[in-house]
Amino acid sequence: MTYRFSKFVPKTTTDPVGDILRVAGHPGVISFAGGLPAPELFPVEKVQAAAQAALAEHGAAALQYGSAQGVPQLLDVITDRIKREQINATRENVLVTTGSQQVLDLVAKLFINPGDSVIVEEPTYLCAVDAFKSYGANLVGVEMDDDGIRVDELEQVLKNRDDVKLLYTIPNYQNPTGRSMPAERRQQIAQLAEKYDLIVLEDNPYGEINFTGERIPSIKSYDQSGHVIYTSTFSKILAPGMRVGWLIADEELIPHFTMLKQTVDLHTDNFTQYTIAKFFEQNDVDEHVRQITDLYRSRKDAMIAAMEKYFPADVKFSRPTGGMFLWVEVPGGVDTQALFNECIANHVAFVPGEPFYPKDAPAGKFRLNFSNTPADQIEVGIQRLAEAMVATPV
Ligand code: PMP
Repeated sequence: MTYRFSKFVPKTTTDPVGDILRVAGHPGVISFAGGLPAPELFPVEKVQAAAQAALAEHGAAALQYGSAQGVPQLLDVITDRIKREQINATRENVLVTTGSQQVLDLVAKLFINPGDSVIVEEPTYLCAVDAFKSYGANLVGVEMDDDGIRVDELEQVLKNRDDVKLLYTIPNYQNPTGRSMPAERRQQIAQLAEKYDLIVLEDNPYGEINFTGERIPSIKSYDQSGHVIYTSTFSKILAPGMRVGWLIADEELIPHFTMLKQTVDLHTDNFTQYTIAKFFEQNDVDEHVRQITDLYRSRKDAMIAAMEKYFPADVKFSRPTGGMFLWVEVPGGVDTQALFNECIANHVAFVPGEPFYPKDAPAGKFRLNFSNTPADQIEVGIQRLAEAMVATPV
């Protein structure tokens, strides 16, 4: 049977990153490849207690169809929580979603016509690239430096093209680089959005995993004109398997997003939403986030210390101030696929940089995850990776 698929869906189901993760998951391999939170900190018993309390209090309502926008108790948790991002929102500015991944899809659905250009950081989160492409977007990469996307380059693109609809950016502890954007750039992006009538999708899944305590205001906090759509998630501070995230946008946009969401999944799971609201009512969530942050900081420190000890001196790496990832740059154009193969033979894994670039990827870059591996294993894994670097021909 030859199925006549939509012209925007990929012609094949080859999944290079899935293949990497499968190999990385083999027993004995120390994997820095995935993007998983540390499961030992999932608050299983507290979620169990919250689920029981949610059922006891809301009964059938927790199991019935519900509002597409989200349950009121959870909307209140969200508007309260995002005050720390200096965002003032009311329930009317919020839509609860099935993870923040759904927000990427809904924003593309609402704004992208086939052929519209979407600007992304180079490199960026690869499932965002796939979401935008599935609506026929043309992806335009803008270079980053150690402080995130280059705003001067961004403005050049906006000046030179009239087909740009959307900018997608991850200002805190970016996936894949771990880099963060200073306040000044965030403010400049909000100003450019207004000047060039550009929608900005600010994706902040890692913002609360903050190693330094310094909080930089969100891009949304500088938004005077309604151009910025903000998204975050309970995936990194609670549990990704619960699949609950949210977006914050101008009040006028929420009914549009809500209508589109209804055609996809009617609404996000009510029972889980009530459970999360109860979890916030019953627990000191700040203390829980502190535990996650302390663990990830110690793992990041272990990774950096091991890289300083074992990597050749000319290998560069980012020093994230939060989040779950860091970015390694090997000079001399090493073929990261050859390095990956050498690493697998040496029982350690990473994700090569290529899939994080919308078009032409430079050689010799790769992502390491530090949240999912104990510190003693991190040292062993980095030592193996360093040995593989020496053994890989350039
Ligand atoms: N955005 C970024 C940058 C991510 O890294 C992820 C998940 N790894 C997501 C969005 C999606 O997260 P979720 O759907 O679990 O909220």
